[in-house]
Amino acid sequence: MKYVDEFRQAKLIEQLTAAIASITKNHWQIMEICGGQTHSILKYGLDRLLPDSISLVHGPGCPVCVTPALTLDQSIAIATQQKEVIFCTFGDMLHVPGTYGDLALAKANGADIKMVYSPLDALLLAQNLPEKEIVFLAIGFETTAPATALAVKRAADLQLKNFSIVCAHVLVPPAMIKLLDSPQSQIQGFLAAGHVCTVTGYQAYIPIAQQYQVPIVVTGFEPTDILQGIYHCIKQLEMGEFTVKNCYCRSVKMTGNLPALKMIDEVFTVVDRQWRGIGQISNSGWALREKYRFFDALERFSDLPLSQKDSSTICGEILQGLRKPEQCPHFGIDCQPEHPLGAPMVSSEGACAAYYLYE
Ligand code: SF4
Repeated sequence: MKYVDEFRQAKLIEQLTAAIASITKNHWQIMEICGGQTHSILKYGLDRLLPDSISLVHGPGCPVCVTPALTLDQSIAIATQQKEVIFCTFGDMLHVPGTYGDLALAKANGADIKMVYSPLDALLLAQNLPEKEIVFLAIGFETTAPATALAVKRAADLQLKNFSIVCAHVLVPPAMIKLLDSPQSQIQGFLAAGHVCTVTGYQAYIPIAQQYQVPIVVTGFEPTDILQGIYHCIKQLEMGEFTVKNCYCRSVKMTGNLPALKMIDEVFTVVDRQWRGIGQISNSGWALREKYRFFDALERFSDLPLSQKDSSTICGEILQGLRKPEQCPHFGIDCQPEHPLGAPMVSSEGACAAYYLYE
C-alpha cells in the first residue's frame, strides 16, 4: 500500500537497527509519548531489535486512558438523568471505567448512548432531531480538538440550542513537563507524537528540550519512523545535545496547521486539568471560551457528580512510564480487554492493551 509499505520494509528496518546499535555506547531511557507509537513498537517487536541498553517506556499519550473517572461519572449522569438526551461518544470510551460503571452499562440499562466517529456526526443529529438534547463527549489531544472546535463554532453559527459538549481535551507539552518534574522520572529523551505536532507544530517543545536537557524527536507511527526517531534521539544523547528534531517531515511543519490552530484559539481557552492516574496538570486542558460557554454540557445540566473515588490500581504508574503493564498484578488475570479494570486496558492506544495483544 502506497505510503505504508515503504515504511515497513525489512531491509530499511535492518539498516536502522544496525545504525542504532553502532552509535549506542551508554544506557538510555526514552519515552514514546503516544499510545499509537506504543502499539507499533509492540506490534512489530521493535523493542526487541534494539540494544539491551536502550529502554523504551510508554507515555500518557492515550486520550482515553487519561480521561478521569469523574468525566465518565458526569457523562453517565447526563446520559441517564434526562430522558430526552442522546449522549454521543467515540466507541472506545464506552468501556472506560467510571467510579461505579461505564457508559456501556448505562446504555444496557436504557440510556440513549450513540457511538459516533466525529463531533460533526453529533452536530448533524442535533440538526435532525431538534426535540432531543445532543451531548458529545469531547476527548482527545491536540489532534481531535480542531474538529470539536469546528462543531461548536458551527452550532453557534446555526444557533442550535440542543447541542452541547463535555469538554475533556488535553495538551501534550504540559504533561511532559509534569513527568520531567517528577523526582521518580528517569526519562532522558522523548519521541513526540507526529500527529499532535501536525496540528500544533513543535515550537512549544523547544524550551522543554533546552530547560530539561532532553532531546525531543518528532516521530511518526510506522516501524521505520519509530526507529528513525530512536536513532536521532540516541545520537543526540550520545553527543550531549538536547534539541528538537523533526523526523516526520512528510506531515509536520514547525508552525503546525495554522487554520486548525486558529479554530482552536477561537473556541477554546487553556485551563488546568485533571489527568487520570497523574493528577492535576497546570495549563493542560482546553475549556470553552466565554463566548461559547452556552455549549458546555457541565453548565447546562445540573446535579452532576463533583468528585470521584480514588482508584487503587497502578494504572497511573503505567501512564507515567514508571512501570510496565506486565508488572501489574492484575495484568491478564482479572484485567483483560473484555473486563478492563483500568483505562490502559480499554483503549486501542492503551499500553496494557498493546502488551495484552502483542506480548
Ligand atoms: S493491567 Fe489493568 S489494572 Fe493493571 S495497570 Fe493495566 S489497566 Fe490498570
